[in-house]
Amino acid sequence: MNTELRGIGMTSARTRERLISRLREAGIEDERVLEVIRNTPRHLFIDEALAHQAYDDTALPIGYGQTISQPWVVARMTELLIADRVPPKVLEIGTGCGYQTAVLAALCEQVHSVERIRPLQDQARRRLISLGMARVQLKHADGGFGWKAAAPFDGILVACARPDIPDELLGQLADGGRLVMPVGDRVQKLTVVERHGDDITTRALDTVRFVPFQRGVQ
Ligand code: SAH
Repeated sequence: MNTELRGIGMTSARTRERLISRLREAGIEDERVLEVIRNTPRHLFIDEALAHQAYDDTALPIGYGQTISQPWVVARMTELLIADRVPPKVLEIGTGCGYQTAVLAALCEQVHSVERIRPLQDQARRRLISLGMARVQLKHADGGFGWKAAAPFDGILVACARPDIPDELLGQLADGGRLVMPVGDRVQKLTVVERHGDDITTRALDTVRFVPFQRGVQ
C-alpha cells in the first residue's frame, strides 16, 4: 500500500473513533449500537465529494431533496428500538441511502425496508449488496402502507416525519413489538410506541428534525 492510502486509512480509523466519543458524550450508551456504528462505513453511503465529512455528527444531502440522518439520530433510534430486546424482524420506512438499514442489518435477523424514491432505493441496494448485506429485503412503495405481506414486525423504525402515526403501521406491529418514529410537523419528537395485546403505550422523547413523510412513489 502506498503511504497516501495508508494515511487515509489511519485518518479514517481515528475519525471514526472520534465520532464514537462524540456519540457517547451526546448520551448514547448502548455498546452494541456504538460497536455497529464504529464498524459501518458511512463514507460508502454518501457522495464521494462529501466523504471527508462522513464521520462528522451531521446530516448530509443524498440527492432528491433527502438527507442521510445524523449519526446521533441513527444511534438513538437504534438504541430505542433494541432497548429491551433486539427485535428479530424489523421494518424500516425510508431506506434513503441505506445507512440506517445497514446498521439494523448488523443487529437484527430480518430487515425489510421501504423507500418511495426509486433511484435512492437502487443505489441503496447496490451498496448493501457490496457490503454483503444482500439478505435485506427492499421494496419501492409508499411506506404509509407498511409491508403487509411480510407483517407482523417486532420492530418498526420510521425515518421520515409526520404529525400522526399511520394506522397501517400500528396494525403491522407484532404483540410485544416496538415502533420508533419522529412525530410532529417541522420539529418532531422521537416517539416510542409499544404494543401489548390491544394496549398501545406512547412515549415522546428527544426533539429532532427529519425530512417529511411524503405520499405516493417517485
Ligand atoms: N434511513 C436514512 C434516512 C433517509 S431520509 C439514513 O440512513 O440516513 C428519509 C427517507 O424517507 C427519504 O429517502 C425519503 O424519500 C423517504 N420517505 C419519505 N416518505 C416516505 C414514504 N411515504 N415511504 C417510503 N419512504 C419515504
